Amino acid sequence: MLGAPGAGKGTQCKRIVEKYGLLHLSSGDILRQKIAYSVERIADRKELNAKRYPLNADLMDSGELVPDEVIVEMMAGAIKKTPQAGFVLDGFPRTVNQADRLDKLLACNGKRIDAVLNLKVNDRIVAERMTGRRSCPQCGAVYHIENLRPKVEGICDNDGATLIQRSDDSLEVVKNRLKTYHRQTEPVVDYYRKHNTVYDIDANKDADEVSAQLIENLDALAKE
Ligand code: ADP
Ligand code: AMP
Repeated sequence: MLGAPGAGKGTQCKRIVEKYGLLHLSSGDILRQKIAYSVERIADRKELNAKRYPLNADLMDSGELVPDEVIVEMMAGAIKKTPQAGFVLDGFPRTVNQADRLDKLLACNGKRIDAVLNLKVNDRIVAERMTGRRSCPQCGAVYHIENLRPKVEGICDNDGATLIQRSDDSLEVVKNRLKTYHRQTEPVVDYYRKHNTVYDIDANKDADEVSAQLIENLDALAKE
């Protein structure tokens, strides 16, 4: 699943994996989990050299990308562990080098990309979506203060946890994340246009309409 930060990748991936019985592999979620885990271990003095992942938190907080080596190794580990049923990648690959490394990795593991879904959204909408995003620190559910509200303001529908605003969702960081996206990640779409069929989805629409477009394409693909 490709698209700018805030395009709705995570929201749509959660719906797709439920409908088709797939696994959702979000590089951003995996990074945040690894950072939280390492920070805990450093605080507990259990593992004094667990400082590798927290170093990436500064890059994330400024809207820059984490180095390709860190991401590729991390995602390779996640992909190897997945069952054959299949998975949806979200937030990875984000550079042409990552896309190239992913192709090699999948070939080595007897796996392949069936569909490249490209969520197209304009920058103004992305900024509104990211600054209004609220996330559950426990289950990872994602809401929006206006578009996709929880039943009770500020509280997760699934587990009652207090929702948080991600530190990289401030307007200033969002602007840099968009720059990073246009500079480093947009070329990944062209990479896939050369190697795979890319399904362009109008992601400016509301979440249900976006889901309907995705399902239409995936159902057609499944029948081929
Ligand atoms: P990404 O994973 O691409 O960064 P998210 O799925 O987290 O994006 O969505 C970003 C924000 O926009 C969230 O607050 C989410 O609730 C909201 N959102 C997602 N899709 C839509 C949509 N189609 N219309 C309006 N808001 C949306
Ligand atoms: P996301 O949750 O997808 O919005 O990602 C949050 C942040 O994690 C990004 O702004 C990057 O700093 C980092 N990140 C996530 N995925 C990648 C990736 N594939 N390559 C490099 N950095 C990444």
